[in-house]
Order: sequence, then C-alpha cells, then structure tokens
Amino acid sequence: YLKYVIIGGVAGGMSAATRLRRLDETAEIVVYDQGPFVSFANCGLPFHLSGEIAERSELIVKTPAQLHERFNIDVYPNHKVTAISPEQRQVQVEHAHQTETVAYDKLVLATGAQPIVPTLPGIDAAHNVFTLRNIPDLDQIMAAVQNTDHHRVLIVGGGFIGLEVAENLRLRGLAVTLVEQAPHVLPPLDEEMAAPLKTELQTNGVTVITGTAIASFENAGHTAILSDETTIDTDLTIMSIGVRPASQLAKSAGLKLGWRDGIVVNDHYQTSDPNIYAIGDAILVKQQIDGQPALIALASPANRQGRQVADNLAGINRLNRGSIGTAIVRVFNLTAASTGLNERAVQQLGLPYQVVHTRTMDHASYYPGSEPITLKLIFSPDTGKIYGAQGIGKAGVDKRIDIIATAIKGHLTVADLPELELTYAPPYGAAKDPVNMLGYAALNLVEGLSKNIQWYDLPAALAAGKQLLDVRGADELAAGHFKNAINIPLEQLRARLGELDPKQTYIVSCFSGQRSYMAERILRQHGFTVENLDGAFSLYAAVR
Ligand code: FAD
Repeated sequence: YLKYVIIGGVAGGMSAATRLRRLDETAEIVVYDQGPFVSFANCGLPFHLSGEIAERSELIVKTPAQLHERFNIDVYPNHKVTAISPEQRQVQVEHAHQTETVAYDKLVLATGAQPIVPTLPGIDAAHNVFTLRNIPDLDQIMAAVQNTDHHRVLIVGGGFIGLEVAENLRLRGLAVTLVEQAPHVLPPLDEEMAAPLKTELQTNGVTVITGTAIASFENAGHTAILSDETTIDTDLTIMSIGVRPASQLAKSAGLKLGWRDGIVVNDHYQTSDPNIYAIGDAILVKQQIDGQPALIALASPANRQGRQVADNLAGINRLNRGSIGTAIVRVFNLTAASTGLNERAVQQLGLPYQVVHTRTMDHASYYPGSEPITLKLIFSPDTGKIYGAQGIGKAGVDKRIDIIATAIKGHLTVADLPELELTYAPPYGAAKDPVNMLGYAALNLVEGLSKNIQWYDLPAALAAGKQLLDVRGADELAAGHFKNAINIPLEQLRARLGELDPKQTYIVSCFSGQRSYMAERILRQHGFTVENLDGAFSLYAAVR
C-alpha cells in the first residue's frame, strides 16, 4: 500500500484526504496541520463575531477522532511540517518541541495562504492588531471585542473578508472604521458596481475611508496614521489587505514557484517534484478566461482541487482545468458578486471588449417584494465570449452570477444567454430573467441595434459637444437629474422629434436604461446619431 502525507487539514487538504480514502481502502493517509483545529469553516469565522453563528463549535466541522472513525485517516493537529526532503521522500514534523522524520510515497501540499501584514512603523509595538484566518485568530479577536473598554475598531482593507468583518463587528455594536487604499471598497468589482456598497456601509453606521492607506501606528497601536496624515483612534485593528500563498515550505524544498510565489503545478496538480502535489490557495492556477497564471484564494476551487488531486493519486486521470474566480459577499442588506475578469483586467490585457449594464427586478415587479438587481457583463464583441460579470442588489444576485459563472465554464457566449430557460413563477423570477435581459442587451450591441457609452466617458463626450437627452418623466427629475440635459419624456418623443437637431449627436438616458434604449431605437430609425448611456442615471448617480 502507499503512504500519503497531506500538509494542511482544512479545505483542500481534508477534501483530498477523504476522497482518497473513498478511492483507496488500503492506503495510509496522514494529515498534519500546524493549528489546533482541522476541517474548520474558515468562511464562517466572520459570522461568529456578531453572534450570527452563535456557537464557536459550529465552526469546527469534524474532529480528528471523527475523521479517524469515519475515514480511517490519521489527523495530527498542532503538528507543523518544517522541512521536506524530496530525494529521501521525507518530511520533518515538529510537535511539542520534538521533531520527527516521516516518510511518504506521495506528498500533498495544502498549506493555504497567509494574511499579508505590512511592515509599518509602530506595528511591532501594537498588540491590538489582528488578522483573521483561523480559529485561534478568531479567539483573539473575540477576547478583544468582549473587553467592554473596546469600542472602536479599525478595519484595514475592504475586500471580502474586511467587509464581512466590518459588517459583523458593526452588528455587534462597535464603532467601525474601514480604510481601503483602492479608490473603492471591494476592488475585485469595478468602481460603479462597488459604489453602492460604500453607501450601504455608511447607512449602517460604518465610517468608510477610501483611496487612503495606513501609514503607521503610534501609541502602542491605539493611533493609526493614514497616508493623508489624518489619525484614527482605535481599540483594535483588523488587517485584511489580502493573502499570499503559504509556499515557504515548498520554496525551501526547492519546488518551483511562480508569480507572487504561488506554487507551480501541472495539469495533474504535480509540482516540479513528481512525488509532491499541491492544491488550494497556495498554488497558481490557470485563469480560464485568459489562460494566465493566477492566485484565486477561494473555497470552491480549493475543495475541487482536493478531490481532483486524490483522483489523480488514485489513478483516475482528472485534469486541473483552472479557475475563473466566482465570489460573493453580503454587506448588510446588499449582496455583491462577481465571476471571471473585471473590466480593469480586460482593459489591461488589451482585449477588445464591450460592457453592458442592466437594472432589472429580481422577480416579477407586480409580485410583492421585488428588488432591483444591477448586472454588468463584459464580453468580446467579436466572438461573444463572456469575460466576466458582476452583480449587486438586495435579492437574487447569487443566482444570476452563478448562472453566468456556469455559462462561462460551459463556454457559452452572449448569444446563448437569451436561450437559457430558467425557472419562473412570479415569486422567483421573470419570464425574461435578468440574465436573459443581459443577453438581449449584449446582443443588441453586437448586432448593431444599439451603441452605448460608459459612465466614465460621459464628461468627455459632453465636452466634445454631444447632447444629453433624458427621457424620464418630468416628475422623476426632482429626485436627481443631470446638469445640462434636455428632457423629453419617452411617451412624447415621437411627437416632439422636430425639437431635435438632426446634426447633433444625442446621448439618451433615463433611470435604469430601459426607456433610453427604446428612445435610442426611435431616434435611430428617424436617422439621428445616438448613443445610449449604459446603466443610465441610476448607475451614474451611484458612482458620481
Ligand atoms: P486552508 O483552508 O487555509 O488550509 C491550510 C492549512 O494548512 C491551515 O490550517 C494551515 O495552518 C496549514 N498549514 C500551513 N502550513 C503548514 C505546515 N507547514 N505544517 C502544517 N500545517 C500547515 N472563500 C470563499 O470562497 N467564500 C467565502 O465566503 C470565504 N470566506 C472566508 C473567510 C475567511 C475569514 C477566510 C480566512 C477565508 C475565506 N475564504 C472564503 C477563503 C477559503 O477559506 C480558502 O480559499 C480555503 O480555505 C483555502 O483552502 P486551502 O486548503 O488551500 O487552505
């Protein structure tokens, strides 16, 4: 029989171990984890901060004893692997200040990622700066927030974890300030899609500072100094500025690392040593949209890779096809999600692309409780290939981004989106689902029925002499309107065409983009040169 040693006993490592056992009853399977817990729910950690997940024990999915009983796996928590000798096929394992040498036939690295902690002046003297990666981290933060003298929390970094921690500590009643270096929170989303999150955070009492970094700490960590020299008083600080692959062990074993020290693996998860495999947050994956190496630190890929590496170890040929990066976060009453590449990434790649935004209701608008969803699709105008999508709203965002993520994995194009036949009854969706609508809108662009202009190009277009035409009802303008737009309500447009100048280029807008598209079609068929402001006033107002 073969002896498998797995380093890391959480998402990827434990998926690999249990699948391996299901495939091979005879193998010896040993899992080492440096931490006191294995098989815990990292993704659930933030929700214990508020008490939404009330019991800490809920976060511990399986104990070593349970894993041994059910799967006959030898799981060793508090065992740190300190060195690998690929030639001898041995690892050095440290436990309670003792080191032992353990042999393996095949080794799997599932060492995950580590939170990045910047070396800032004063940070070493700060004993109130934490990161959140595992249960001991959670325990430390819980002890700090249970201290009734602690009221003020500073969150550094507004990515997925920073937002979840901010929400949960705010729900706990603490005074939360979130500082994000990028121009907007949730940098994986594009600016206009993430903009409503800032408002949502502020509405719920979180102070949000964007475009500013933390420069240093003073006063034993109780004063944070920002890059613009303002100061923030804080009782505790959570650093959530991102993660890096935990690849030091692989590096010192001489295994090949790539971009940002991600472990390089082949399409069977083999590292540069054929007896050592690697999976999860520690590895470089192929971003399936552009084929480039990427670090995608998410639970779904880690779990899948764990299963797939076990298949390969057990002789089932399972290809590592790569990842696209599909993610979601709840921020109070809003949900934001994305899949694939964002517009910035597509721009940087220099790919020809088009963008379309839609704002539609999550279910039939006549059925009570419907909520708007804003969706964004980024695609190739030549091939219809979907590069990425983003969504934000109060309900139904998860479903739509999941559908598009599935479409991307299935190599569907924008022309296929209207063809998707999705569940519909009034409480759940619409006969034209938001994803169908997004496809229709994209196809209108591809087929030349519509030409749109993005919110960021509007100021230059107006400066160049184009005229904004707002086709909302006059009564709607009081709630917010563009400066210098002329207003002809859609219903009056046909009768009032004579008021428009045939030599002028018009940019049409309304609230959500539906009426402006209808106006565009009327105007085009009467020979006008016209562009549709994508996402219309609602999108523009959110970001400006
Ligand atoms: P991990 O699950 O981190 O496991 C790696 C393990 O290896 C660790 O326990 C570590 O201690 C151990 N280890 C490392 N080096 C050694 C060594 N030398 N010896 C022994 N043991 C070692 N993803 C989502 O998709 N959705 C979410 O909602 C989500 N929320 C998250 C919330 C939080 C707070 C965190 C921290 C992560 C979240 N993630 C989420 C990310 C997700 O948890 C990770 O992508 C996933 O756990 C990666 O799996 P992994 O097996 O690669 O690494």
